[in-house]
Amino acid sequence: MVYIVGAGPGAEDLITVRGARLLKEADVVIYAGSLVNPGLLKETKSGCRIYNSAVMTLEEVVETVKNAEKNGLMTVRLHTGDPCLYGAVREQMDAFESLGIPYEVCPGVSSFCGAAAALKMEYTLPGITQSTVITRMAGKTPVPERESIRAWAAHRSTMVIFLSAGLLGELSRELIAGGYEKTDPAAIVYKATWPEEKVVRCTVEELEEAAASAGIKKTALIIVGPAAAQTGYDRSLLYHPNFSTEYRKGRMDEKGEL
Ligand code: SAH
Repeated sequence: MVYIVGAGPGAEDLITVRGARLLKEADVVIYAGSLVNPGLLKETKSGCRIYNSAVMTLEEVVETVKNAEKNGLMTVRLHTGDPCLYGAVREQMDAFESLGIPYEVCPGVSSFCGAAAALKMEYTLPGITQSTVITRMAGKTPVPERESIRAWAAHRSTMVIFLSAGLLGELSRELIAGGYEKTDPAAIVYKATWPEEKVVRCTVEELEEAAASAGIKKTALIIVGPAAAQTGYDRSLLYHPNFSTEYRKGRMDEKGEL
């Protein structure tokens, strides 16, 4: 059996309870060495075989799992954040399926949630935006043209931009070409939830310069959108005294006021 487990964004105690239990029980662990906190491996049982997938190809990962299966061993494939985002898990799952290897997925806390926590930010502010776009700049992996930063920017939703810390000059230009003001608020979160976490607030235009002066080159998320200012929003109806919900009756005087 293989468990594809989300390790969380970085802090050792941000793996799920289920993920931690699976790690403790694993005979073989293959972890995404570039971004998974190695501290998570402390709890593995003695004799557990540990592999760093940063130096492995997909074929080598699959071979390792195949050998473990032959010997009746349980494997945890540990991915950073949640496996469903930029995790290259589909190709692995397809390989397991074609080999008849049973697997399950255990979700994790994605770094976009870790970044919101670091920023103390609500991505979906009433009256401002009710959507969050998770995207990236095209790098070695292309991005479909209809999903260009410029195209998303026109929506003025919150945008959380992955895998783009090395392309910030171009990112700013694309955001501005898509309709952002140069002075719109932006944030850079480096290694969210790790002990070395850094939070930088700047404007859309200043992204490259702000990252350079903080020494940030990778492992960062960029957050932009009108919600980044965290002001000028409407209060929620859910917690409004006048608003009735399934669980709570609203109250108003005869003038419709509190
Ligand atoms: N599956 C992961 C994303 C993997 S892609 C998740 O759910 O978070 C790797 C990219 O994610 C990095 O280049 C960086 O942009 C971002 N990232 C991962 N962990 C991060 C963290 N703790 N802080 C900031 N960005 C992070």
